[in-house]
Amino acid sequence: MAKDSALIKMDTMKHFHASDLFKIDDIEHFHSNDLEALLHKILQYVRHITNSDAGTIYLAEDDYLKFHIFQNDSLPYETILDLQESLKDLRYQIKKDTGTIAVESFIQSKVISVFDIYQNKKYDFKSSKEFDKNFSYKTKSILTAPLVNFYTNSSIGVLQLINKKAENGQYIAYTEQDKEFISLSSYLITQSILNTKNSIEKLELLNKELEKKVIERTKKLKDTQKKLIEQANRDPMTNLYNRRYFNEIIKSLLLIAKRTSQLFSLIIIDIDDFKNVNDTYGHSVGDRVINDLADIFRNTVRNSDISVRFGGEEFVIILPNTHLKEAEIIAKKLKDIVENNTIILKDGSRIKFTISLGVSQIQQDDESVETVLHKADEALYQAKNSGKNKIVIKS
Ligand code: GH3
Ligand code: MG
Ligand code: MG
Repeated sequence: MAKDSALIKMDTMKHFHASDLFKIDDIEHFHSNDLEALLHKILQYVRHITNSDAGTIYLAEDDYLKFHIFQNDSLPYETILDLQESLKDLRYQIKKDTGTIAVESFIQSKVISVFDIYQNKKYDFKSSKEFDKNFSYKTKSILTAPLVNFYTNSSIGVLQLINKKAENGQYIAYTEQDKEFISLSSYLITQSILNTKNSIEKLELLNKELEKKVIERTKKLKDTQKKLIEQANRDPMTNLYNRRYFNEIIKSLLLIAKRTSQLFSLIIIDIDDFKNVNDTYGHSVGDRVINDLADIFRNTVRNSDISVRFGGEEFVIILPNTHLKEAEIIAKKLKDIVENNTIILKDGSRIKFTISLGVSQIQQDDESVETVLHKADEALYQAKNSGKNKIVIKS
């Protein structure tokens, strides 16, 4: 006799012990950020304890009780999945006297138990009856409990248990013990749902912030990269392109010239007697002259032309898609502007300088950077030799 009662006691204990139902990793779902997984575990647990064949959880959103999850042991797995999908948009407006048991339970904050929905006159059970018809199911008993927030005493949703089964498989009414159990559990269930929702919200917020930061950082990185590339291509003193860039761009222009009939011209420019400027006024005034000349290039040639500081006081201007005749006009313009330009120093000294220019045009059979430069260089040499402040053209 004593042995028997001990057995019964043990059996009852087991019945209420959550760890029997969930493996350790399953229990982790209670802490997980996946709200659905949590709701499924909760429903599975309370269904197990109350011996319910099916169940549903609704959560309040704005003015509605919105369907969230559904379980039913009597239906095939695929049907459950389909149902889960089709019920996704199911929601009941939260207002008085709709005849819907879930809404009544929510509004009154009361556990409601009905033994036979087809005998009950108080609620319409419209969707349950429809469900029975569609899936050849027989809904009999329903236990509906509000999910109450212990701290605010307000409900966040409704948990519904369907068809309590006796050991022999017969549907029976929910007991007072079931009601009490679900009433007490509802606080814990609500708290775990709220915690999960809270973590999800926090996580989403964090993710958004992180995303924003990543976008900002990527932009900064790209800008820096662009700047670095720009810097690598520029002469720091004049901000004109440097020789490194010249070598790159001239190669692609030669390729284009070879494939298409797009030719380009080059002007090589060297300041006349620049040594004298340095010797007479000092190196910083020499720098000023170089910078002034760079400004003249910037203000005179087109945006598509490429002005390069080739070396100390030697410059190259690449004129893409430009014939010799046009290049000559631009060279003449540059020579005249420089000739008419006067630099006035702080002490009132007025400095004038001139440039010599060699102009050449690239032919389709020009193979290398060296050939191209050589022609323009020769022209410049001739300009220097014929008295400076001159332009020499070499086709
Ligand atoms: P030419 O008319 O034959 O070109 O005579 P030049 O005196 O201009 O020719 P040269 O090439 O002999 O002298 C160029 C001078 O430019 C030598 C060098 O000290 C000076 N130089 C090169 N780079 C800079 C610079 O960045 N700043 C200054 N102030 N001087 C520079
Ligand atoms: Mg010079
Ligand atoms: Mg020189």
